[in-house]
Amino acid sequence: MTPLGRSLAERIALAGPLPVSIVMEEALAHHAHGYYMTREPFGAAGDFVTAPEISQMFGELVGLWLAAVWDSIGRPARVVLAELGPGRGTLMADALRALAKVPGFPLAGPVHLVETSERLRAIQAATVKAPVRHHDRLAGLPDDAPLLLVANEFFDALPIRQFVWTGRGFHERMVGLDDAGALIFGLAPEPAAGLPAHVPPTPGDVLEWSPAGVAVASELGARLAAQGGAALAIDYGAAHRGFSDTLQAVARHAYADVLTTLGEADLTAHVNFAHLAAAATAAGARAYGPIGQGELLARLGIGQRAARLAAANPAAAPSIEAALRRLTADDQMGSLFKALALCAPGVPLPPAFEAAP
Ligand code: SAH
Repeated sequence: MTPLGRSLAERIALAGPLPVSIVMEEALAHHAHGYYMTREPFGAAGDFVTAPEISQMFGELVGLWLAAVWDSIGRPARVVLAELGPGRGTLMADALRALAKVPGFPLAGPVHLVETSERLRAIQAATVKAPVRHHDRLAGLPDDAPLLLVANEFFDALPIRQFVWTGRGFHERMVGLDDAGALIFGLAPEPAAGLPAHVPPTPGDVLEWSPAGVAVASELGARLAAQGGAALAIDYGAAHRGFSDTLQAVARHAYADVLTTLGEADLTAHVNFAHLAAAATAAGARAYGPIGQGELLARLGIGQRAARLAAANPAAAPSIEAALRRLTADDQMGSLFKALALCAPGVPLPPAFEAAP
């Protein structure tokens, strides 16, 4: 058992089983043993590689998407440029390089980064070559200018609750102890009340719900409606999901067992874009998509960008081609990863997205 596993087992022995959401939150954010507090997850030597770490093209095209939104809302003299969960800061650094080439784009103010990990805050401040202001949560961002925000692989790191259909109702999935004192999954004895079920479930179906993700989407929707602007959320998950258990642990680029690696593996769940879009819309914003990451990047011109980069540096052409494929191909990150755009009501249809049918 990991140190965090032991600490949770002691807690469960005293106070009873814990919901999956609490275990996930502790695994990621526990002050001493949490994954994001202690580990360097990113890159070849870490546990996983994210899109901005694959190629500079990703952050550059996100920057150009933000610039196009800025242009479409009348080129305001001030914006609040922000990112949720910036990791190593690579996306924002690449986006800023692209934005610096957009005539008139307002880059005078600081970049606002929402990040809980002190360790990553320091790395971000060093990577992003511009003044940075860190915030614990979205609520800390200024609200006196249109918001231009990006979140890549942020929502998948927010805790989910899971409910399993037994025929009697949806029972919350809990973590308890077996006879030998090891952590095991189990179910709450009584069904939870008031859960949405879009299609009739069959026994064993798992309903996932991210209270934290939905709260962020709702707050983001309300902010966009009030201060203007747009947000681009990119993550993995199905556009319309049935019932499946998507809680997954990843360490050293391979899947790991959830309960025996607590705090030492990344723990994520697929993002339910429908839940996020509904929350943001209910709060007053418009939602577009999700569309596949491959579609998003192709429409933003990644093909041409790759060709230009390869022409400028022929020796790097094979690795640029490989990055292009990895980011956009359907059997790579092109369709499992998706982009959802959230916009203030007055914002024209953002680039790469289609009007809702
Ligand atoms: N966007 C980056 C990193 C993704 S990993 C990339 O694409 O490479 C998730 C990031 O979200 C990390 O920076 C993590 O520390 C941060 N994070 C996780 N939960 C958070 C929370 N509740 N509030 C703010 N940041 C959080």
